Amino acid sequence: MVQAVRGMRDVLPAEAKRWHLIESTVHSILRQFTYEEIHLPLLEFTELFARGVGEATDIVEKEMYTLADRDGDSLSLRPEGTASCVRALQENGLLYNQTQKVFYSGPMFRYEKPQKGRYRQFYQVGAEAFGFVGPDIDAELISLGANFWRQLGLEKQVRLEINTLGSRQARQMYKKALVDYLTPKAGQLDEDSQRRLHTNPMRILDSKNEQTQAILAQAPDLSMFVDADSQAHFDELLELLQALDIHYVRKPNLVRGLDYYTDTVFEWVTDDLGAQGTICAGGRYNTLVEQLGGRPTPAAGFAMGLDRVLLLHEVVNQTAMNSAVDVYVCYSAPQFAAHAQKLGQWLREQDLGADTAALNVRVNMGGGNFKKQLKRADASHATWAILMGPDEVAAEQLTLKNLSDGQQVTLSKADVVGHLAGTGSN
Ligand code: ATP
Ligand code: MG
Repeated sequence: MVQAVRGMRDVLPAEAKRWHLIESTVHSILRQFTYEEIHLPLLEFTELFARGVGEATDIVEKEMYTLADRDGDSLSLRPEGTASCVRALQENGLLYNQTQKVFYSGPMFRYEKPQKGRYRQFYQVGAEAFGFVGPDIDAELISLGANFWRQLGLEKQVRLEINTLGSRQARQMYKKALVDYLTPKAGQLDEDSQRRLHTNPMRILDSKNEQTQAILAQAPDLSMFVDADSQAHFDELLELLQALDIHYVRKPNLVRGLDYYTDTVFEWVTDDLGAQGTICAGGRYNTLVEQLGGRPTPAAGFAMGLDRVLLLHEVVNQTAMNSAVDVYVCYSAPQFAAHAQKLGQWLREQDLGADTAALNVRVNMGGGNFKKQLKRADASHATWAILMGPDEVAAEQLTLKNLSDGQQVTLSKADVVGHLAGTGSN
């Protein structure tokens, strides 16, 4: 058998239920905050990411899946969504003279070393807001995350880490000071950091290497370089978070891997997933739109890693998610096959009241006697079985069997629905 490509994983039915719960919860919260859904292509011109994410980032340097289109264009599978999102809104004239709040979800691709919580195809839900200068939108984006974790029952597992990088100029000055400090000590840095000294020096700050961290202890302090405007923006944001009862931890060393961040950066972090502890990350990127050829447009956003949120949800809720079959329809003889499928259709269309989802109905396939069909019904973990034989069909009735206690009643079609609703099958 041909196997899956390394780092590309399958989401099997049991996991897909959890996946759906998480994604639909997150989407409905985003809609409640009036963010609008957009869909973006998986393939873009490589140049978009080189310019948007940054030539010197790990992503662009060594993690992209790049291919030549048949006409020779260089295309890449998207490694993240923000650059595409800016491209799409800009290209469709949706950034000029207006504000936008949008979200997207889907797979992203990075050639990384696969491990638990780190895959080569992974799934993000991203939200981006354009045209808002003030820290109120930073606070709203963070508040969205707080809402996700609360509704998913994960709020005890995660904490918010936050920092400010200052303006682009402040960042450049700091970068220079950092390189000046580290260059004479380059020989003592870990290998990755030595390389980053020339490519992406600020990323050295979040090196996990102990010796590198010891050297960094004496390094120039990023917060000393933050300009007054950025500091005011950040102070206001922290006040808003306090007022919103959102707890945070200030992390002077928190920088993000992508070049485009300015001012606010934040991460939602858990201790329950080992090294892959960041489940959602974001910040402000006021220079990105311009960097991609648009007019200067303030922007902020985040991306949540659904694969990791899923793993965390599994840690907290270990029970497998319930089977989706409510009713299993059995019928006694082949001539009732169409009857059974029609009944299934009718049941799926019934309104069981505002608090109850529509019924999930599985009609027996592949024949068999009642005994065999009821075995299948049990194996499907259905709550109810409906038995349909010649007597039921003649009398326009149905026999309803509760599969947990074995109790059986024969009722009219209309009464069956009342019975299912009344006993709260969902
Ligand atoms: P990390 O430091 O874990 O590599 P990152 O800084 O590269 O993360 P971002 O580009 O900010 O991550 O992406 C946002 C989120 O997407 C991350 O916080 C994480 O939850 C998720 N994510 C990123 N890369 C992967 C991956 N290879 N596999 C699974 N999830 C990922
Ligand atoms: Mg990464």
